[in-house]
Amino acid sequence: MGKCLIIGAGGVAGVAVKKCCQNSEAFEEIMIASRTKSKCDKLKDELDGGKTIIRTAQVNADNVDELVALINDFKPDVVLNLALPYQDLTIMDACLATKTHYVDTANYEPTDTAKFEYKWQWDYKEKFEKAGICALLGSGFDPGVTGVYSAFAMKHYFDEINYIDILDCNGGDHGYPFATNFNPEINIREVTAKGSYWENGEWFETEPMEIKREYDFKSVGMKDMYLLHHEELESLALNIKGIKRIRFFMTFGQSYLTHLKCLENVGMTSIEPIIYEGKEIVPLQFLKAMLPDPASLGPRTKGKTNIGCIFQGKKDGVDKTYYVYNICDHEECYKEVGSQAVSYTTGVPAMIGAMLVMNGTWNKPGVFNVEEFDPDPFMEALNKWGLPYEEDFNPTLVD
Ligand code: NDP
Repeated sequence: MGKCLIIGAGGVAGVAVKKCCQNSEAFEEIMIASRTKSKCDKLKDELDGGKTIIRTAQVNADNVDELVALINDFKPDVVLNLALPYQDLTIMDACLATKTHYVDTANYEPTDTAKFEYKWQWDYKEKFEKAGICALLGSGFDPGVTGVYSAFAMKHYFDEINYIDILDCNGGDHGYPFATNFNPEINIREVTAKGSYWENGEWFETEPMEIKREYDFKSVGMKDMYLLHHEELESLALNIKGIKRIRFFMTFGQSYLTHLKCLENVGMTSIEPIIYEGKEIVPLQFLKAMLPDPASLGPRTKGKTNIGCIFQGKKDGVDKTYYVYNICDHEECYKEVGSQAVSYTTGVPAMIGAMLVMNGTWNKPGVFNVEEFDPDPFMEALNKWGLPYEEDFNPTLVD
């Protein structure tokens, strides 16, 4: 039993909060704190009456003093950061000041450079060790479950893993010509950036969407997918024994890509501020304000997601392949928690990560990525809390 402070009240937080309340044996009390308190109160109103006690608060997570005051007041066992990647370091600073464990789902990214990497957060390792507290980084689906799948494959099926392909397929249709499934600003920064993959100890950079493959996803069907840079490539390249190459592919429909290209060509995806009628605006932030709120896609989205990892390696000297994935249905998610599957597949592992850190199963002083812990309790929890995994020992490989 423990207390969890959840920061953020967007799409992912909405799911995590509901999952914490379903899991009231672990989450005795939660506080939902975000920039806009009315969103926290709305979530609380939807859930009051269950066993988990829910409190709400307003907080600017860019401000360490405000965070420290809130943590000192609520005294959580763990802080679950579901705000934006820009807030990771201030929240980690507040955790250090109050000696409170930390969990997030996305690595830090400065607002003025669209470049996310673990360097900034890994630099906190010694400070967290000295403070005797644990930071669990990237406990969403990808990163998150993809790292747990990798540790699980390593533990149970391989002596060495040589190749990993992470395949993220969203076969959902929300009926809008263009919308993003999670925070539009973060999503567009990710997909307009250069792609990259890691091979034989080196990073190879590609133009955005330069490498395209087709894959036939179970329960979804044939989809185009594109190579992207993704944050777990960085940690898995370090943490998985024998790795020679690791790539990440995400599916995009033609309509999404055509809209994105057009928005890019006219400068709407830029993060360079411009002056408009005497006021400074960031085009991408303005675009975000125009696009549908990802949290509003839930009732409209039909279809399934299929996200997983294909591993190639060796066991007892013999070549082996293994594909582990989860299929999640947008409409089922909406029925259960009022959100589409992209928020669901992130919010569930976020709750599980917070639970395992809180109950001590995954807790040691320092800063860690998910694949550095025993995957079995996480895999069991995925089955229990709505993201069961499926296995294929003879999958089609990606060339
Ligand atoms: P949303 O934009 O829906 O929600 C973000 C929330 O953070 C909002 O409630 C927002 O407040 C709040 N927030 C933003 N800035 C501050 C601040 N300075 N102080 C306090 N609160 C703040 O995003 P999502 O829920 O879609 O995504 C949440 C996180 O999950 C992101 O970091 C995203 O990158 C990550 N993610 C990870 C995935 C994974 O698989 N690992 C997949 C999808 C997302 P307000 O309501 O006022 O704007």
